[in-house]
Amino acid sequence: MAVSYGAIIMSERSAEPILKVENLAVHFPLGGGLFGGKRRVVHAVNGVDLHLKHGECLGLVGESGCGKSTLALAMLGLQPPTEGRIVVDGHELGTAGPDRKARARIAQMVFQDPYSSLNPRQTVRKTLEGPLRLHGVTSKSDLDSRINGMLAQVGLRPEAAERYPHEFSGGQRQRIGIARALILEPKIVILDEPVSALDVSIRAQIINLLLELKDRLGLSYIMISHDLGVVEHMSDRVAVMYLGRIVETGTWEEIFTKPGHPYTRALIAAIPDPFRRSRGAKITGELPNPLEPPTGCGFHPRCPQVRDLCRAPPTPDLEAVSPGHLVRCRRYHEIALAEQPVASG
Ligand code: ATP
Repeated sequence: MAVSYGAIIMSERSAEPILKVENLAVHFPLGGGLFGGKRRVVHAVNGVDLHLKHGECLGLVGESGCGKSTLALAMLGLQPPTEGRIVVDGHELGTAGPDRKARARIAQMVFQDPYSSLNPRQTVRKTLEGPLRLHGVTSKSDLDSRINGMLAQVGLRPEAAERYPHEFSGGQRQRIGIARALILEPKIVILDEPVSALDVSIRAQIINLLLELKDRLGLSYIMISHDLGVVEHMSDRVAVMYLGRIVETGTWEEIFTKPGHPYTRALIAAIPDPFRRSRGAKITGELPNPLEPPTGCGFHPRCPQVRDLCRAPPTPDLEAVSPGHLVRCRRYHEIALAEQPVASG
């Protein structure tokens, strides 16, 4: 039986997660003086705890403005945290942790829009050569073999190296974006809405390519999306983010078959799928201003299940409702009980 490279790596891995985020906060103080005697501060990320296991794909979902990109930048070491710590592959970011160059070998990002994230004046060869040269690969034969090998991995022919981004289709451009992210052989890849800018007809090809590469190269993914329908196809576990906080986290199955937070239910209800039995009302209203977050549960102004206890401070804790399945809702048990089928006879 053929054994994949990914499977060999998995067997050698320790149980320690490849990425740990502990009590992370990222706040942006705004200029413009004091308001009501206080400096205005955007609480973009608040008290986030997360971990990513070797070889898994963690879906990070939430609507625009909930803090996903800020969290991703912090995990790449590009946004200093206000509080908390991030440990990547055994090294704490910041402090005496790995420098920018070393970090680039550990974690990379694939962006949403492959066209705007590629330099239109550079051939694919130049795009892939840049990071390699920065990391000491300079001989022509080494550069050629790394670039040709990477193009083959993402399903592009060697001739693609001499062409410019505008000469490719959207799906091919995203393949180049993936090649650029993988050329330094990182262990973690953050996928920021990797298919949402692509034609629906080629999304599945790119999703399948990403899944094949994960297994073949032993990668671990964080997949950011505002759309639970996309993470459904890729994620082993899912973390749902709302107003800078994780409001629910669990395995793919728990999140999709037993969603506990009304916000998760609303996101699932919004997936266009006629066969899905939705248990939540679709979400209405706007994300509150993170400069003035609501008291108590941040979701209470939009929650169809809201009661007075939801408005009372402090912010509810993330509670384990089963091992590994955590929900930040004071009414979780009450709602779950009310939904249990009444025994007959
Ligand atoms: P999107 O999906 O639109 O990218 P997101 O979920 O990734 O949204 P972030 O971009 O992380 O959300 O933004 C979270 C909050 O932090 C938003 O209110 C945003 O306006 C604010 N924010 C992000 N970066 C800054 C900054 N540099 N200065 C001030 N506020 C910021």
